[in-house]
Amino acid sequence: MCRHVAWLGQPRTLASVVLDPPSSLLVQSWAPRRQRHGTVNADGWGVGFYAEGRTEPARWRSDRPLWSSASFASVAPAVSSGCVLAAVRSATVGMPADESAAAPFTDGRWLLSHNGRVDRAVLPASRTAESTCDSALLAAHVFARGADLLGDVVREVGAADPAARLNLLATDGTRLLATTWGDTLSVLTTPAGTAVASEPWDDDPAWVDVPDRHLVEVTPDGTAVTPL
Ligand code: GLN
Repeated sequence: MCRHVAWLGQPRTLASVVLDPPSSLLVQSWAPRRQRHGTVNADGWGVGFYAEGRTEPARWRSDRPLWSSASFASVAPAVSSGCVLAAVRSATVGMPADESAAAPFTDGRWLLSHNGRVDRAVLPASRTAESTCDSALLAAHVFARGADLLGDVVREVGAADPAARLNLLATDGTRLLATTWGDTLSVLTTPAGTAVASEPWDDDPAWVDVPDRHLVEVTPDGTAVTPL
């Protein structure tokens, strides 16, 4: 199971979202606190963000552990964005190990990350998937259906593969969408913006756990959590 995190709000550095907090994604890459499947997330990482004046995201991914990227650690404090989505990967057995299998996946304005696993046989074949990895095929399916329909797609795929775990996190730069389906997710609302993460990045009591099988939608106007 991988871990992911997103921020929507006032611009902040990539380091402040991904590296700096005491239980940041970086720390979660070797010592996650709530991970139910797998122990470390050392099979790659990715960060997507929206730069001033651009509608399509920029993305930096790797097939290496996040802790080994001195270049990202150097650049991350110098890059700020009001919308960031990042993930660290623990590859599912049998899945490809290269960079193209690391989230976030992208299509146009959208970024998408998947914590979990799904039987590829229940997903349609795709010419546009970035990898043959289950998460990349699932991302392509969500993008083809329309990422606005994230909740519907999770319900359908969950029905087709009852063993699937489908915690998804997506953004188009203006809002965050997330699902819980088999793993943990928490939300932190602050005056500066909202964070959504597989697990809290610190011990702030303001983090709220999202129940399983729910859809979270974060916009600049607020956060809605609805059952799936
Ligand atoms: N199944 C996906 C992969 O292999 C995601 C794995 C995970 O959530 N640990 O990359």
